[in-house]
Amino acid sequence: MAEHVKDLLSAYLDHELDDVEQKRVEHHLSHCSECRQEFEKLALLKQQIYMAYGSVQAPEGLEQAVMENIRQRQFAYGIGKWVAAAVAALLAIVVVMTMSSIVYFGTAIVSAVVNIGFSLLHMIPFIVSSIPSLLGIVLVTAVILIIVSLWSLHRLLETRAIS
Ligand SMILES: [Zn+2]
Repeated sequence: MAEHVKDLLSAYLDHELDDVEQKRVEHHLSHCSECRQEFEKLALLKQQIYMAYGSVQAPEGLEQAVMENIRQRQFAYGIGKWVAAAVAALLAIVVVMTMSSIVYFGTAIVSAVVNIGFSLLHMIPFIVSSIPSLLGIVLVTAVILIIVSLWSLHRLLETRAIS
């Protein structure tokens, strides 16, 4: 009996042997049950592998669709980047403008209040002097207030002294 051909069986199944080797394997398999068994196991295994993976075939146009999808995503990503940058810039401008307007209005309001305050301060003597009776009322009220407070203070001290 010639030597076994187990090492060649895989190549035989894949039709990778030259004619001489193929003939040799065929001839050997015809009378060696050991190698035939091995061959059948290997053939079954290959068939199972093929059924598991070989039958999985990419649908028509899948690669094209994937590539198109990638291109669109890259394009969208590029646009998104620009949009995000534009929004960020716009936001920065708005924030700066808001801040500066707040500062501007803040200073405007403060200076207006200060101006009004100074105006009122300047007007008080005019008002007071233009109405002599008002001056009199203010003076009398001030005197009454002083007297009342002095009197209440005196009473407070007296009460403390007694108790
Ligand atoms: Zn054999």
